[in-house]
Amino acid sequence: MSAADPTLVQEAARRRTFAIISHPDAGKTTLTEKLLLYAGAVGEAGSVTARRGRKAATSDWMEVEQRRGISVTSTVLRFEYDNVVFNLLDTPGHKDFSEDTLRVLAAVDSAVILIDAARGVEPQTEQLFQVARARGIPLMAFVNKYDRPGMEPLEIVDHLTEQLELPLVPLTWPVGIPGAFRGVIDRRDASFHRFTRVTGGSAVAHEEVVAAGDEIDEEDAPAWAVAEEELELIDVDGAEFDEEAFLSGEQIPLLFGSAAWNFGIGQLLDTLRDIAPSARPRVTDDGTPRPVDQPFAALAFKVQANMDPRHRDRVAFVRVCSGRFERGMRVTNARTGRTLALSFAHEVFGQDRVVLDEAYPGDVLGVIIGGDVRVGDTLYIGSEVRFPPIPTLTPESFVTVSNRDVNRHKQFRRGLEQLDQEGVVHVLRREHSQDPVPVLAGVGPMQFEVAVERLKTEFGADVRTEMLPWQAARRTDAEGAAKVLADPGHTDVFVRADGTQLAVFPNRFIMDRFAQRNPTVRLERLIGAD
Ligand code: GDP
Repeated sequence: MSAADPTLVQEAARRRTFAIISHPDAGKTTLTEKLLLYAGAVGEAGSVTARRGRKAATSDWMEVEQRRGISVTSTVLRFEYDNVVFNLLDTPGHKDFSEDTLRVLAAVDSAVILIDAARGVEPQTEQLFQVARARGIPLMAFVNKYDRPGMEPLEIVDHLTEQLELPLVPLTWPVGIPGAFRGVIDRRDASFHRFTRVTGGSAVAHEEVVAAGDEIDEEDAPAWAVAEEELELIDVDGAEFDEEAFLSGEQIPLLFGSAAWNFGIGQLLDTLRDIAPSARPRVTDDGTPRPVDQPFAALAFKVQANMDPRHRDRVAFVRVCSGRFERGMRVTNARTGRTLALSFAHEVFGQDRVVLDEAYPGDVLGVIIGGDVRVGDTLYIGSEVRFPPIPTLTPESFVTVSNRDVNRHKQFRRGLEQLDQEGVVHVLRREHSQDPVPVLAGVGPMQFEVAVERLKTEFGADVRTEMLPWQAARRTDAEGAAKVLADPGHTDVFVRADGTQLAVFPNRFIMDRFAQRNPTVRLERLIGAD
């Protein structure tokens, strides 16, 4: 491949790879459908959910997902609009699956923070926003459900500025009080976009554009005047959109809308097209950005077994960072040094697989793998390249897991190994002890529910879990581990398959006290932001 491949550069430039992060119920599923509707990818909103529901029913372990009515697995939606290819990576909303969201954030170029206008930023989701912010990912915010009574728009701006600790720049402004939503003013040209709802919201809302200076309908005039006044206050604050500040994650553009009514969805889609970053050179672990037209290199950010019961296989989700993907190509895994053929690559639309022959930087694809591919692995051709490892959140929940059926010990062990490799949970062992009972660790108990269900349905292992009293953990070293174990307080040390030692404590207070008494002991978070 030549150093400057114009097709590659062009293809990368028209990719927008992003995620929507939100608290459950903020409207992510609805918004996703409406983006597809506005992009012309589906004829009628509702078809994706319907399809997802039907497919999910065919997969056993997704029962957890259905029972809880939440999204456990991430999916990738790809759609084209206005000659731009959007890769929308889904993220589970529930806090217990934050680890999945963190991995998705490693694969995207930007993210939309979705907020319920009445509820604002909810504490559970705040950590994710902080992680996104700490990583410098360009963020934009969409305030949803403005069709319902909630906070006034100026109040929302204040609230978000305080919670997200970054300046927000409204690109659109709602006309009408919350609950009586008429349309939005586009701040770029001061035009008023008046929406009329289509019953049920399954079709694009009728949109009438009143240019700046043109006469506003009598009925809308008072609400429009209020919005104009509010915008003057925003202007006084000097909150101008600054592309550079947005791209470096220092400023958050803000839009208002209603996913249910299809208000403001077109504006969000156009904003993503116009300002969301395309696939850009990704920094490798030696700190240098790798141009998109270098030979193929991709980052595996998710590994999932048995996604489809008809294909008992493992799928690695990879994000193409440079070069062109071609089906059948042989790549090297930087961690193992082994080569593997990417013979079966799929574009994944919900649970449907579409065979993909080519992909470009920014694209995300599912490749079926027989060998050892783990989260964070770099796959490449040509000379060796490695992307920095994907961080993990520090566990806050721990259970012992024991096998109830001695005849199925092999399945039990294989299952645990698989779940550990996929990063569904951390599988730990008790250090300095003959106790063979493994310990599962994670951000929250729902992760264990998924693990137990999968051990049962995929590996035939019937297990019992028991809650352990630990709620805080820190990485330590051998010396630290010895100190922790010798401590008269209630502490313990677990070790991960990769050798990482985790000191665990009943709570943060006791942990902090231990740290104060033992200032030389190394105690670190797994990542900086928690
Ligand atoms: P998710 O959990 O974030 O995926 O949220 P959903 O898309 O499933 O939406 C949660 C609930 O909020 C559903 O009952 C939706 O119909 C409703 N909802 C979503 N968007 C809006 C909106 O803009 N306005 C109103 N009133 N309801 C909405």
